[in-house]
Amino acid sequence: MTEHSSKMERTARIIADDEPIPQVEGRYVLLGATLRQLQELIKAQGFPAFRARQLYHWMYHRCARDFSEMHNISKEFRRWLEENATLGHIAILDERLSKDGSRKFVFQLYDGRLVESVLIKEEGWNTLCVSSQVGCAVGCTFCLTGFGGYQRQMTRAEIVSQVLMVKRLLGEEELLRNLVFMGMGEPLLNLDEVIPALRVLTDPEGVAIAARRVTVSTSGIIPGIRRLGEADLGVSLAVSLNATKNSVRDVIMPINKVYPIEDLLEACRQFPLRPRRRITFEYVLLRDINDSVEDARQLARLLKGIPCKINLIPFNPDSRLPFDRPSPQRVEAFQQVLLDKHYTASIRYSKGLDIGGACGQLAAHWRDGRR
Ligand code: SAH
Ligand code: SF4
Repeated sequence: MTEHSSKMERTARIIADDEPIPQVEGRYVLLGATLRQLQELIKAQGFPAFRARQLYHWMYHRCARDFSEMHNISKEFRRWLEENATLGHIAILDERLSKDGSRKFVFQLYDGRLVESVLIKEEGWNTLCVSSQVGCAVGCTFCLTGFGGYQRQMTRAEIVSQVLMVKRLLGEEELLRNLVFMGMGEPLLNLDEVIPALRVLTDPEGVAIAARRVTVSTSGIIPGIRRLGEADLGVSLAVSLNATKNSVRDVIMPINKVYPIEDLLEACRQFPLRPRRRITFEYVLLRDINDSVEDARQLARLLKGIPCKINLIPFNPDSRLPFDRPSPQRVEAFQQVLLDKHYTASIRYSKGLDIGGACGQLAAHWRDGRR
């Protein structure tokens, strides 16, 4: 990053921090607020400055569900909070456990709308797959979230609450180590809320998830990739490429008509990566559409020179989607081409297929009849 752009970014950050905390029906919605924002609010109300840090710790470290749990906060301050603010938590409406150990949560948002998140158990830690929008407007034809259409943006409080509610459920013994923005929605079309959420999620004094362990996945929204890079948060970027020819990508990911493959890869080349870090390219394998050995060779050519790894995701079928999953042999042949060209390429069979929790299956927002 040039000195000029990093200066601009610092300025942008200060402006973002100086924004007032969002209000709904006259109440401050605190989840998603930075320490600075809490300090400003608390100072303006005439309470001692150290209360901000206490509140911040209760919100993001202790995962308090409401103000009544914050027992070391003065009565007077708590009363003010109860009358003028809300944390803005969302409610877990349902939880389903998969045979493979992953868990799907259905969350109810403040207006009754539903989103889903999936907790994936790995060896020694957990990864949470979070949502950033109710539905998705991008409309990829292999994805059930896209099939259901778009309802609205999620707020920063709703995004952060998904993480805190699950962290609270896991308790002290179980580690929530990784976050992937691969649930419902296109995070780079909601950066006004996603960036503030990322800030508190990765703040060592906040939710404290290591930035490099937070992955934002995009269908390839180029201005969003640039803005995420400029925000300089150190989070990881994943790009759902899914095709090697514009003629194919135009059909399965209509957003390709706006941001075609070559422009998208140029934006990836310019994305500011920290030392030894790589971009992840996701590639959903659809039988007879994008899964040939020739596609694999073309993928290797396209990604040349980009520090990257490739995740091959065999398509998760659904009767409403007009695609099939390739055979394991075909998936392995695709992978082998990439390995032969010295790429890191793994096959990722999604978790939670039996509970509707796999990649592309999250659809609570329209399954509940609100579509
Ligand atoms: N909107 C973002 C993040 C959510 S989708 C994006 O598109 O990247 C997360 C991943 O699930 C993407 O890589 C997407 O290509 C993949 N996906 C969507 N539908 C799928 C399906 N039916 N089977 C397998 N992967 C799918
Ligand atoms: Fe939206 Fe991602 Fe699904 Fe495409 S794959 S419709 S961008 S959620």
